[in-house]
Amino acid sequence: MAEELNPFKISQLQLDKAAEKMQLDKTAHAILREPMNTLETTIPVRMDDGSVEVFTGFRVRYNTARGPAKGGVRYHPQENIDTVKALSAWMTWKCSLANLPFGGGKGGIICDTKKMSDSEVERMSRGYIRSVQREIGPETDILAPDVYTNPQIMAWMMDEYSALKGYNSFGVLTGKPVEVWGSEGRFDSTAMGGMYIMREAANKLKINLKGAKVIIQGFGNAGKFAFELAHNIGANVIAISDSKGGIYSEDGLDLAKLEAAKEKTGSVQGYQDKNAEKISNEKLLELKADVLIPAAMENQITGSNADNIIVPLLLELANGPVTPEADEILFEKGVVDLPDFLVNSGGVIVSYFEWVQNLQGYYWDIDEVYSKLDKIVTKSFHDVMKTQTEYAAKGKKITPREAAYIIAVSRVAAAMKVRGWY
Ligand code: NAD
Repeated sequence: MAEELNPFKISQLQLDKAAEKMQLDKTAHAILREPMNTLETTIPVRMDDGSVEVFTGFRVRYNTARGPAKGGVRYHPQENIDTVKALSAWMTWKCSLANLPFGGGKGGIICDTKKMSDSEVERMSRGYIRSVQREIGPETDILAPDVYTNPQIMAWMMDEYSALKGYNSFGVLTGKPVEVWGSEGRFDSTAMGGMYIMREAANKLKINLKGAKVIIQGFGNAGKFAFELAHNIGANVIAISDSKGGIYSEDGLDLAKLEAAKEKTGSVQGYQDKNAEKISNEKLLELKADVLIPAAMENQITGSNADNIIVPLLLELANGPVTPEADEILFEKGVVDLPDFLVNSGGVIVSYFEWVQNLQGYYWDIDEVYSKLDKIVTKSFHDVMKTQTEYAAKGKKITPREAAYIIAVSRVAAAMKVRGWY
């Protein structure tokens, strides 16, 4: 069953499914099933105690037919080449769906930064850049933060790359601190993009967002900003959770009180209010509301609980929260489930803006960033809806995820075709 396969096999199966529905050319399909380029590197790092530890790093360029590869670098003890390959494929489709002039890439190092000092992390990050320097660059492959990498690490990496080149190369990666020309709006861009999609989808489904009931799973970067932004447009967040469990109040929750509870007790479950009650993460997903936003982990809605989801609109702000089996159940039930690589594309779109600003040396204010982001995600949403309607008119029922895949894959295939790759 697909749910037990490794991530790269899952990404290939998803492509196969889309290829069949869109009757993709066989050669284009064969090219797109594999990354164009994979690199495994060895990074010796001098540790604080004087010993040398040897780390393994990866960089994968999945496809560059539409532009330079773009994707994050993850630091994780369980990092492996199949995960990096899968993530680079998903970046290819995400960039294509948003119609950015990028292909997809991803990288990582097998390491546990929780057991390393900051200076060890810095030396390892600089070592990684030295080992992949010939593969990366503003016109070939552009890096970004991901799991356990952050703006400080991006600043060290950019500095190392610039030192190797002999000039400042800010555009080699995105997600930098603003002091070295990161973009305004980078931190809430994922949630912001998701909220623009929520606005468009609610409009289509005739859900009035003023007073609408919203459930959010996860209280990290994505979940917290989603709470704030949903609240700002008049929605009522009635339940939220973190890894320890959830809290629910039909009257709506208060962000400042949630943050205080999290700070004091280590969990949103410490929230106190007369009508608030603790609930499990499982129960949270099954509450009655207008919008459900998984913003935590993958594989949260599966074959065993999909039938209990009773919201009309599900926005996948997290990566991979809905399994392929659940996808079909939700579709049959009439739940509109908008896929991760549409809903959370705001992050990579603002990364693209950062790269554009770095290349131009001309910087935009936050309003300009948001309005350009709005335009791109809104168009992506309507592209997906249009493709779904067009297929329905031909008698083919497809999910929003399949529609998004078809758009993304056909754009990459078209670029390969005109370039003469097949
Ligand atoms: P984060 O680490 O800041 O927060 C994750 C949150 O999920 C934490 O509150 C954690 O307590 C909670 N959590 C963990 N396990 C849980 C569980 N079983 N049930 C409920 N909550 C649980 O991460 P983030 O940056 O907010 O990312 C969340 C998701 O959004 C991930 O899937 C990530 O890939 C995706 N995403 C984030 C960004 C971004 O810019 N932050 C961009 C694209 C996609």
